[in-house]
Amino acid sequence: MRIGIPRALFYYLYYPFWKTFFEALGHQVILSNPTNKKILKDGLELAVDDACLPVKVFHGHVVDLKDKVDALYIPRIISIEPKEFICPKFLGLPDMIKSSIPDLPPIIDSDLSIYKNKRGFYEHAKSIGTKLGHTEKLTARAFRTALKKLNSYKKSQIIEERLPLDSGQKSFFEDYQSKNQNYGESALKVLLLGHPYNIYDNYISMNIIGKLQRYGVKVITPEIIPTQNLSAGSRYLNKKLFWTLGKNLIGSAYYYMDGGQPIDGIIHLASFGCGPDSIVGELLERKIARSRPVPFIRINIDEHSGEEGFNTRLEAFLDLIEGGSRR
Ligand code: SF4
Repeated sequence: MRIGIPRALFYYLYYPFWKTFFEALGHQVILSNPTNKKILKDGLELAVDDACLPVKVFHGHVVDLKDKVDALYIPRIISIEPKEFICPKFLGLPDMIKSSIPDLPPIIDSDLSIYKNKRGFYEHAKSIGTKLGHTEKLTARAFRTALKKLNSYKKSQIIEERLPLDSGQKSFFEDYQSKNQNYGESALKVLLLGHPYNIYDNYISMNIIGKLQRYGVKVITPEIIPTQNLSAGSRYLNKKLFWTLGKNLIGSAYYYMDGGQPIDGIIHLASFGCGPDSIVGELLERKIARSRPVPFIRINIDEHSGEEGFNTRLEAFLDLIEGGSRR
């Protein structure tokens, strides 16, 4: 069976698992094309107006795939860490897609929640295996293989500082990962905060990582920061954030601002209309105002963002931090 996976949202975190799992069950995985003008246009036309940009983009990826596959994998994701949630838009995603896009193939929309226990991840896999008619033995074996792949992928991100970029043509998981260049100790270091599906999607992010790297900046993202440092950073919050992605963004920023390691600047790439991003942005600004000042910029992206204005703001910010590092 050809299983379609939209190259959007949690693709940037879980694709190594998904691909390995479905292939170990004997299926062919088909990815949508990298985000492009048409995908964005289709997403904008079909998604409800008040959806955030990444969800609209996801709709476009579904359109790109739907006539090429026998089934689409759109999990109903509720929680990816114990006692934490992710944004409710993920929970409603399969329903949103079904009601907005006509003529869809069958959708594999099994729940994924590890809020109460870590076995939730296996339960998710088991439910998919059952829907596709596989034995539990085969599903369990595919799950173990896929989990091993995911863990080694995450480990390589942290140990080798590899950013999960999409190459445009190939899957980042198999064929391409951008290694943070060896600029040496004198290179500017910028912490780039944002949801993985924003910062690693070259079209949506206007290739912010590539641009920073061309300026000789070492880019640090939450995905390459060791988990214990993220946790150490988020401990400074008065109240625990129960959104996993927001918690990771705050944990990264607080870790660096509270002296974990020197940093020259922080960029927050936020989605216009994203509630969790607004809270993260507000917490960051308050923290920066009352502790060690670090140059900070928040860039909101939406479907109307123009590249020229984006570049100008980025260059002005880099000038600022470069001047600061010379003083
Ligand atoms: S966290 Fe924000 S950007 Fe992500 S899906 Fe939710 S509303 Fe959209």
